[in-house]
Amino acid sequence: MSTGKKIIVTGGAGFIGSHTVVELCKAGFHPVIVDDFSNSEPFIVERLNELCGTTLPFYECDCTDKNAFRKIFEKERPSGIIHFAACKAVGESVAQPLKYYHNNIGSLVVVLELMKDFGVNDLVFSSSCTVYGQPEQVPVSESSPSKQAMSPYGYTKVVCEQIIEDVIASGQALRCVLLRYFNPIGAHPSGRIGELPRGVPNNLIPYITQTAAGQRSSLTIHGNDYSTVDGTCIRDYIHVVDLADAHVKALEWIHSETDEPLREVFNVGTGKGETVLEVVNTFKKISGIDVPYTVGPRRSGDVEQIWASTEKVEQLLGWKARLSLADALRDAWNWQKQLKA
Ligand code: UDP
Repeated sequence: MSTGKKIIVTGGAGFIGSHTVVELCKAGFHPVIVDDFSNSEPFIVERLNELCGTTLPFYECDCTDKNAFRKIFEKERPSGIIHFAACKAVGESVAQPLKYYHNNIGSLVVVLELMKDFGVNDLVFSSSCTVYGQPEQVPVSESSPSKQAMSPYGYTKVVCEQIIEDVIASGQALRCVLLRYFNPIGAHPSGRIGELPRGVPNNLIPYITQTAAGQRSSLTIHGNDYSTVDGTCIRDYIHVVDLADAHVKALEWIHSETDEPLREVFNVGTGKGETVLEVVNTFKKISGIDVPYTVGPRRSGDVEQIWASTEKVEQLLGWKARLSLADALRDAWNWQKQLKA
């Protein structure tokens, strides 16, 4: 569907944001990238221009800086926002909670204030399955209750979801989709954009690919005494290109609905859970590399198992993951190899 609508993408040079910019262009939207490079790199913007075949509007801006962000609204007059910009390292959020509350909550407040000032109603917000904690039942559906957050990072997602609800209840004409991401992995099949973890990666897939590339000596599996098929934790790993496509579907869905205020939550996952060992074995199949690992103690704050019920997102947004774990690992490995080159 070609809509020609201008969409501000905060965090548009980041991992999920950059892939979403590509999918937006493909669908006929006009993305405007806003990023402060606090956890991304300027070369990604150049690569996005190359992948999208045009020079995309780009602004280096911290989204908590309302005056600077206001100027972007004035100049661009967007019809909608996808708000990715946020800090996302769970461990860091425990050490520096105020950084997380300031950036993640502060930036959403600024986005909502500017949306009100400029009469912009359409918002897609990045939430996380972290709001479910360890659910009573898996697969977990959107109606499962939010749990006590395990970290300040997780708490910012719970609070941001609530802020959006309160703002709609107050009468602001927001039409908002909240996407609860499961575990985004992979990279663009072109190998031109992907995840750029700073320092030692916390997440499983970058740790595996860096170990395979010889940058780390060995992977530590955080516990193998869970009540799962092989004792390691289960997650729902979603290819970042599929996840990016869910944002496009969300915007198209908002536009197809009535003009009434709207707040709808969707899980974005594959609907399938994989253990850590299954991921390591699938990586071996696609790369031929047997990543060395040792088993360490459980990591504090990890839930044992979670995967998504995808019924709602399939029915309402018409979105379904198309790419497999093997596809995602192949693309992540392809990206890692060219980074080294
Ligand atoms: N994990 C691991 N070793 C690592 C990183 C992660 O065993 O070096 C495990 C982690 O305990 C969890 C799964 O891999 O069970 C996914 O972790 P990740 O940090 O990628 O995502 P999370 O679901 O914690 O947000």
